[in-house]
Amino acid sequence: MAGYEVIGDEEKKALADIFEHGGGVLFRHGFDQVRKNSFQVKDFEREFAEYMHSPSALAVSSGTAALKVALASININPGDEVITQSFTFVATVEAILESGAVPICTEIDETLNMCPNDLISRITPRTKAVIVVHMLGTSAKMDRIKEICDEHELILIEDTAWGCGGEFQGKKLGTIGDIGCFSFDFAKTITTGEGGMLTFRNQEFHQAARAYHDHGHDNNPNFPRWEDTRTRSGFNYRMSEMQGAVGRAQLRKLPQILKMQRYNAEQTKKIISNFPQFAIRSQHRDSIGTDDAVIFHSLENYEAIEIRKTLLEFGISTKILPEATTWHFAGDWSHIFSIDSHSNLPIGLAYPSSRKLLKKCVSLPNGVFLRKDFHADLSRALEKITENDT
Ligand SMILES: *Cc1c(COP(=O)(O)O)cnc(C)c1O
Repeated sequence: MAGYEVIGDEEKKALADIFEHGGGVLFRHGFDQVRKNSFQVKDFEREFAEYMHSPSALAVSSGTAALKVALASININPGDEVITQSFTFVATVEAILESGAVPICTEIDETLNMCPNDLISRITPRTKAVIVVHMLGTSAKMDRIKEICDEHELILIEDTAWGCGGEFQGKKLGTIGDIGCFSFDFAKTITTGEGGMLTFRNQEFHQAARAYHDHGHDNNPNFPRWEDTRTRSGFNYRMSEMQGAVGRAQLRKLPQILKMQRYNAEQTKKIISNFPQFAIRSQHRDSIGTDDAVIFHSLENYEAIEIRKTLLEFGISTKILPEATTWHFAGDWSHIFSIDSHSNLPIGLAYPSSRKLLKKCVSLPNGVFLRKDFHADLSRALEKITENDT
């Protein structure tokens, strides 16, 4: 959460500026006489790359599109395997399917992200790339995962949909692997309504992605657009100038959004840590999350679903865990998989250790603004849950 909480006059003014000063041009290319040098998407890409300390960025129409464009840019062939994690949003697996590759999911570890050892066990001669997800804004173990990818010559893509502005060992999430994929949908850390961004370390992938997302246009500076050169087929995943304008306004707010979310999460964690019966999701010590949610689990026999019931009595809802793994856990996706090809288990029984972990977790939504009594109510709810302990 977050971006939408702080939408206001800045976004409104950014949109109005396109019409008042930019000739009302809503397309990222061309119309040079009319637009009076107003290039919102181009400027958003430059400013985003600067913020991320990334050599380059490409804006697209959604986070799912970002994943699809990333996979197109690395030349996936039919039969190639792409490995991601079993706890993610369904979009990650959809993008792999759309690219013509075979999606393979790993177990998660105590960070609730890709388990490095399980990743190793699922690599085959057909594995081409890995999509690691920083689920709900907490970094995966990027040092180990990058090492494994380097060793096996696999392309590493980061699904940074929740991780915009998070860090691992001093680097921004999304800039550690080969390609970072960001989402600006309405529930993400910054938002353009719908929208996404890719960051690249390597110019070859960047150029391929830029052409693919724009019908294969090379955008060759020596030709007008309608006579442009082309080397491959593409599609349309372009961002519009309106999204670009809103994105620039939101990006300026990102440091403040992160500061407030981290502060609120800290307060929530303090309350939880008053109760020795509970443990907070583990996080690599050299990482800084975006704190989109605060996840904890019981060290004793409290059922997550019972914890949720009591939280609801105090007006506190949960986010995804434990109640809604439907769209976020591959073990629930019988509409996509029938078996897990690695373990040969039917999908409803696959990823047993992830299933066990997720079942005990409770995820508290976090944001820039928490209601006034949130922490007091949380404290009272946890007291009630544990009141019969000696
Ligand atoms: C939100 C999300 C996406 C997709 O982004 P959209 O902009 O909604 O298409 C992909 N992966 C993860 C992990 C997400 O949370």
